[in-house]
Amino acid sequence: MRRMCSMKLYNSLTKRVEEFVPNEEGKVKMYTCGPTVYHFAHIGNLRSYLMEDVLEKLLRYSGYDVKRVMNITDVGHLSSDADTGEDKMLKGAKREHKTVMEIAKFYTDAFFADCAKLNIKTPDVVEPATNCISEFIHMIEVLLEKGYAYKAGENVYFDTSKLDNYYVFGGQNEEDLMVGVRDDVTEDENKRNKNDFVLWFTKSKFEDQALKWDSPWGVGYPGWHIECSCISMKHLGEYMDIHCGGVDNIFPHHTNEIAQSESYTGHKWCNYWFHVHHLNDETGKMSKSKGEFLTVSLLEEKGYDPLVYRMFTLQSHYRKPLVFSFEALDQAVKTYKKLKNRIASIPAEGEVDEAAKREWHDKFAEVVGNDVNTAMGLTLVYDVLKSDLSGATKRAVIDDFDYVLGLKLTEAAVTESSVAGTDGTSDHAGEDPAFVAHVEEKIAERAAAKKEKNFALADEIRANLLEEGIVLEDTREGVKWHRS
Ligand code: AMP
Ligand code: ZN
Repeated sequence: MRRMCSMKLYNSLTKRVEEFVPNEEGKVKMYTCGPTVYHFAHIGNLRSYLMEDVLEKLLRYSGYDVKRVMNITDVGHLSSDADTGEDKMLKGAKREHKTVMEIAKFYTDAFFADCAKLNIKTPDVVEPATNCISEFIHMIEVLLEKGYAYKAGENVYFDTSKLDNYYVFGGQNEEDLMVGVRDDVTEDENKRNKNDFVLWFTKSKFEDQALKWDSPWGVGYPGWHIECSCISMKHLGEYMDIHCGGVDNIFPHHTNEIAQSESYTGHKWCNYWFHVHHLNDETGKMSKSKGEFLTVSLLEEKGYDPLVYRMFTLQSHYRKPLVFSFEALDQAVKTYKKLKNRIASIPAEGEVDEAAKREWHDKFAEVVGNDVNTAMGLTLVYDVLKSDLSGATKRAVIDDFDYVLGLKLTEAAVTESSVAGTDGTSDHAGEDPAFVAHVEEKIAERAAAKKEKNFALADEIRANLLEEGIVLEDTREGVKWHRS
């Protein structure tokens, strides 16, 4: 029988870290809200996909069979999540003088190219919304029949007043609830209740809507939320284990997905909701409408290996907002270089101790499996390096961890040109390389502690280094050190 390691996950529905128990033993049905393909993904979007990738791999690492599905939003998403503003796909098409389908194809390919660079696995099923119009129409028909939807102004709306508990995620803070009404909202007078949402448009302000389909309610196009309910049920059935997205998806998108899915099936739909907090830049939340925005290509143009960005995100917990800066990325460059070079210098000696490897495997599954604690997973890599395992076993264990971490840790050592950033070692030419590695490791641990806002630990690391005669200096180029 397959060995299974237990996992704990924070569930946005219950607001607690819970033991993960899938509907069917050993099997996980997982769904991810995919990108709206009207522009490149920014590295904030990709933080969400990176963490979801880690979750999927962690589940597989822990012994589960995973089936993961992702939609591609190529129709129906307006610039405000509450069915107002501009149509995002039309906006992209106009900007680039292309058709909507050309835009969708180009940015879908670009999205998966970025994912590949970040070592993000493509989900088992990827389905564009425009493939599933008949499924959407069927679900909307059922919702109308059951009295959960109504026709008004030639559109079809979901009637949120029909539900006893529409706000299933509860306790949304003010900011979450404002998501739907943040920009220049002109209220849709057809809506009976403020949060009712469009299931099908036949009449909208976009007279020039490029993609339209016949439906029982006239020629038109679907609202945004219906796609995730239908696409997930098409491939995963009516019971799902984990649904993922960024925190901004909680309201209204996931709230609406649950409303329509559970009204349609008449039972609970998904048990665990996994939400990744935002990557912010120093001016606030990242946005594609802010002019030049941060993409994987931009990082590459500046000389960064995209896996350094993966390292940067793994150093912090997915349930905390993360602030991006190039200084912080430079620190990740150093840590990544040092770590890879240390791994590359592990002597090729001894046999792989399979029992020890299994023990470390279980330890990693337990530690990282405690609500996807990637920072602790990285710490375990250092623990392996410091252990008295044989060289062959160390490599094998790190290789095993790297299935989840996805940092290509056991591939060739890092050359000067393969990742950008300043390298502290050149300032320490006369030092013992092992001591330099030790100091750099402590600096990385301190950076991780600071990111986790564990300032007491960060100060302790600095003080310990000082006792060893090492002074740290926080500079714009990152942390530098010298002997006192
Ligand atoms: P979109 O392409 O706008 O539909 O967004 C794709 C995914 O990125 C969704 O799961 C969003 O919740 C997520 N997302 C959007 N902005 C950010 C951000 N700044 N940080 C992390 N995830 C984000
Ligand atoms: Zn969705």
